[in-house]
Amino acid sequence: MPVRHFDIAPTRALESVFDMARADRNRPFWAPELETLDRAALERLQVARLQKTLARARRSPHYRRVFRASGFDPKSFASLADLPRLPFTVKDDLRSDENFPYGLLTVGKDRLVRLHSSSGTTGRPTAVFHTRRDLAAWTDLIARSLWMIGLRPGDVFQNMMGYGLFTGGLGLHYGSERLGALTIPAGAGNSRRQIALMKDFGTTALHIIPSYALRLIDTFHEAGEDPKSFKLRLAVLGAEPHSDAARKRIEDLFGIRAYNCYGLSELNGPAVAFECPEQDGLHLWEDSYLAEIVDPETGRALPDGARGELVLTNLNREGMPLLRYRTRDITSLRSAPCPCGRTHRRIERITGRTDDMLIVKGVNIYPVQVERVLMRFPELGSDYLIVLATINHLDQFTVRAELKPDAFHGDLHELEALRRRIADELRGEILVSARIELLEHGSLPKPEGKAVRVEDHRER
Ligand code: ADP
Ligand code: ZN
Repeated sequence: MPVRHFDIAPTRALESVFDMARADRNRPFWAPELETLDRAALERLQVARLQKTLARARRSPHYRRVFRASGFDPKSFASLADLPRLPFTVKDDLRSDENFPYGLLTVGKDRLVRLHSSSGTTGRPTAVFHTRRDLAAWTDLIARSLWMIGLRPGDVFQNMMGYGLFTGGLGLHYGSERLGALTIPAGAGNSRRQIALMKDFGTTALHIIPSYALRLIDTFHEAGEDPKSFKLRLAVLGAEPHSDAARKRIEDLFGIRAYNCYGLSELNGPAVAFECPEQDGLHLWEDSYLAEIVDPETGRALPDGARGELVLTNLNREGMPLLRYRTRDITSLRSAPCPCGRTHRRIERITGRTDDMLIVKGVNIYPVQVERVLMRFPELGSDYLIVLATINHLDQFTVRAELKPDAFHGDLHELEALRRRIADELRGEILVSARIELLEHGSLPKPEGKAVRVEDHRER
């Protein structure tokens, strides 16, 4: 099949997309020709798109410098095996004085139509630009992902992510509109109003940060409402690491199916990878992103199935394509075929960023490992905080967890026994002894965006 054919896919006339969605709501794929492309053809497409991307990258001041300094000649690129010769791009390349804000652009500013920015979880935010075509391609990937989990015209999609510079809001918004679902731009926060919107307009699908979903249950209870009596049936969970146990809890509490959506602003935003109905790993859209897993310490490639840092290259972006971008997100890549029929490889649930990893008494710990254990205890609510301190020159690891409102009946022995059981299970998982502090329901801070799981007060 000629590769050229695919270059027009994202710019398909909108009307024909809508007609397709209305005409055949039972078809399993949004873009069958791309989602089920056989591996050899998919790799050919990747190489062709990468060659094009490299040619574009030469127009950016940053990549021109990188190519010159490293001796990498973009014209010499012939196969994916040539990739490791290309230097990595890191977050600091985007925010260095030399590059910020326009140094990675490959087009004139007059071609740009949108600015996004990462939420700045880890330092100075980065500026990311999109052309009209970039937005069309990204929107199409989101529509593809939402279609995959069963969203259809007639669904009511309540987007509870922050609108604005954060990509979770506008990104999913345009994707769900493109698919043809009635889209409610609810934005983040204001829990009572969120519930009223769900009730009044018969919301069937949510896009929500998982820690917020778990918290919203309290507001349902306070309002005397049960989400299971609503029309909800789907949720897209994204923006932060969460355990499978947290997902299950959300599914049970809301009576829905919930799917994991991964992405980052630098590479476009949400829907770099998305869980399919199998709920067993996230398909990474390999027609648009080239994925590698490397050892975070050495940068060396790791084999299939090994956990390491995800490195991504944009394959279908014109304004600001990034090459071999170090995401700092830890996962692994699996090439086993998926029963859903999509040929794009799957990544595992993200454990966290390399910078989320805590080294406590010499042991590496990710906050989601703690979450996984806490979620096993029905007595516990869903919020927790890890607090690190230095006591007598030693690391002290404390986990503060909230009790469910009705979990404590005044029996201190029972409470002490629970504390001990949690500490034991936690030691089994993370191999470090933790002090467990059980708190009254609602006493931990509740940020509106991504959850904050760690306070590190250790002396350095
Ligand atoms: P910031 O980097 O400032 O948080 P972004 O909004 O671009 O801004 O966040 C992207 C990051 O969020 C990813 O690199 C990843 O660490 C995290 N993230 C996004 N989606 C998921 C997900 N489904 N699971 C785990 N982590 C996620
Ligand atoms: Zn699948």
